[in-house]
Amino acid sequence: MKHPLGLHYISQEDVQRFLSARNCKPNCPVCDVNDWSVDSHMIGIIPVSSAVNPLSLHGPSLAVMHMICINCGFVRSHAWQLIANWLEEEGKANG
Ligand SMILES: [Zn+2]
Repeated sequence: MKHPLGLHYISQEDVQRFLSARNCKPNCPVCDVNDWSVDSHMIGIIPVSSAVNPLSLHGPSLAVMHMICINCGFVRSHAWQLIANWLEEEGKANG
């Protein structure tokens, strides 16, 4: 299934398998609890710009998956493309 932006949806399970495969620490760096919410329908867009106005929303951007700590609300972000690439390679490896 495709997102309106043309990106593939990435599920919470996909994100967790990716993080585990990359040896990422599962617990929240703020409260040390491992309880995250990932909404696969909510792809974050972080504007990136070398222009004077860093808040410009019309320039280049970076798609990210947001993970929200259920315990303390800390938000972490992982580059969507990196996870999507990993899923594609994993899909090929597993047939
Ligand atoms: Zn937390």
